Amino acid sequence: MADIVLDKVSKSFPDGTVAVRDVDLEIADGEFVILVGPSGCGKSTTLNMIAGLEDITGGELRIAGERVNDKAPRDRDIAMVFQSYALYPNMTVRENMAFPLRLAKLDKETIEQKVSEAAKVLELTALLDRKPANLSGGQRQRVAMGRAIVRSPKAFLMDEPLSNLDAKLRVQMRTVVSRLQKKLGTTTVYVTHDQTEAMTLGDRVVIMRGGAVQQVGPPQELYDNPANLFVAGFIGSPSMNFLHAAVEDGKLRTAVGDVPLGDRIRRELTAEDAPRELILGIRPEHFEDASLIDDETRARGTEFEAPVEIVESMGSDKYVYLTVEGERASAAELEELAADVGTEDLTGSGSSLVTRLSAESTVAEG
Ligand code: ATP
Repeated sequence: MADIVLDKVSKSFPDGTVAVRDVDLEIADGEFVILVGPSGCGKSTTLNMIAGLEDITGGELRIAGERVNDKAPRDRDIAMVFQSYALYPNMTVRENMAFPLRLAKLDKETIEQKVSEAAKVLELTALLDRKPANLSGGQRQRVAMGRAIVRSPKAFLMDEPLSNLDAKLRVQMRTVVSRLQKKLGTTTVYVTHDQTEAMTLGDRVVIMRGGAVQQVGPPQELYDNPANLFVAGFIGSPSMNFLHAAVEDGKLRTAVGDVPLGDRIRRELTAEDAPRELILGIRPEHFEDASLIDDETRARGTEFEAPVEIVESMGSDKYVYLTVEGERASAAELEELAADVGTEDLTGSGSSLVTRLSAESTVAEG
């Protein structure tokens, strides 16, 4: 079993910076967990503490049940993959991949066999005699992964491994990483600032901010039930729109009209201790063109006019940027609106939109 447990783990640097504070996290054996958050939130420091590259200044770290706070990195039996690949330029692909096995003093035959197995999994067999300088970025990153997997470690730690690659290659490599992790079933902790990677790669996502964990959960759960405004705004692209709202006479009042409430949410919002002032979160895909909806949908929503600023076409997706309550808001899946009216006519005109507020939006924070 190679579960990884962080028990109130903290990191203070000598200059007083608290990079990570009281992080509690239980990563199950075989699980793929993503640490995500804005720059400086402490994700790399957390990963480096698991690797043993940074001292832990508070709390306890356990790998496979054993406290490893003071254990040297090489004795933790984990492999790290970095953004920079960190390949030896004067060695061939074969030698790079064999290196950790030679250090571990495995016999020549076993090394040869393990390298050729890893090369097969990563489709590197034809490149084994090349030097890193003669490889593409994606191939180099696959060699770096190959070097990590050859010695079948207890866990993989990956720090933004795909961020040096161009957008198209990143998408391809996401599939490679995902397949590899499933095939090997090795516990993996993966750091990224890219929320698409976070949403598509892992079993669970840990969202960090200011050194603290904001929420942990499967990607869809974070999207559907964000624990706070930060998570609500961080997950989803374009990001969630926020609108001030107040509960009055059992109704949710906003600057664009009253929002019809379902029974459950009404009970929650009108409970004695519920906050009276709220922020209402509306996902871009929960706006609809009022001229195209049926009566039932109309009854469930709130209709209002919103001037359209810009229409952005991403091929299959269209995003409409509106002005709502003096603020910019984004709406998605309004293809018909965008297609019918055309960008120029739409821009600056008042377009009638309805949001499915009651059914699906999130009241993110009081
Ligand atoms: P990024 O995505 O930019 O790499 P991150 O989330 O990985 O950011 P960390 O590198 O873990 O963030 O840094 C967390 C905080 O700790 C930051 O405020 C950073 O400035 C600080 N920090 C990192 N290393 C040191 C150090 N050696 N001494 C002092 N502060 C540090």
